Amino acid sequence: MLKFDSHVHTRFSDGSIFYNGIADLKMLVKRDKITAFTITDHNTTAGQRYARKACDVLGIPFIPGIEISAKEGHIVAYGIDTWKYGAYQLTLPEVLDACNDRNAVLVIAHPLDRRMGIKQRLFSPDIIKKINGYEILNGASPRPNLELLRSDRSALAGLCMYAGSDCHSTVLFCKFHVVLDCESVKVDDILECMRDNRKVRPVGPVLDIPHWVADFPPAFTRRRMLKQLEKRGKVRY
Ligand SMILES: [Zn+2]
Ligand SMILES: [Zn+2]
Repeated sequence: MLKFDSHVHTRFSDGSIFYNGIADLKMLVKRDKITAFTITDHNTTAGQRYARKACDVLGIPFIPGIEISAKEGHIVAYGIDTWKYGAYQLTLPEVLDACNDRNAVLVIAHPLDRRMGIKQRLFSPDIIKKINGYEILNGASPRPNLELLRSDRSALAGLCMYAGSDCHSTVLFCKFHVVLDCESVKVDDILECMRDNRKVRPVGPVLDIPHWVADFPPAFTRRRMLKQLEKRGKVRY
């Protein structure tokens, strides 16, 4: 069994994880007893080399991931280690095709989120046949998730259900996570298991409050952080 948070932002997009270097991951491994790690930064794979190295040092498998902003909403893709397109450059079908060509595992992020979800498109047969799963729980989008939980999801029966914190700092990390029935620590085997809806179990609280506010540091810290990030040229939305 592998335990990991499937939706994580780091300092390589708009998060703060890895601000303290590898010490951040070391703390999370100890605190949350994760046995695998992925990062899903916005439209960039820039942090993967760093994260993979950190995982190697700590002896846990690293699953390469990215959160892609299609024109219609966000998609998380695993197994992608380079990405050349910018935010909102491609349409949803274009993103799905580009990722499927590279044999990625595709999960629709916070599907019913008003601003960043693909909304009712999730239920379209054309989309369903091109994806592997969707987030039934997302730490940053609790109310739309509640709506999704209560809706008729029979059309989605074959898909994997994921839970990810969508954290931008260590606070919310792993409060939502996945338990994966996988005996191997090889990335290809893990990705294979991530396509199998009998092997993916989403874990997390069902919330009807915007719990994500806890994830953000006080405004002045955040402003300072963004300034620093800007200086390093790493702010990407
Ligand atoms: Zn998103
Ligand atoms: Zn996200």
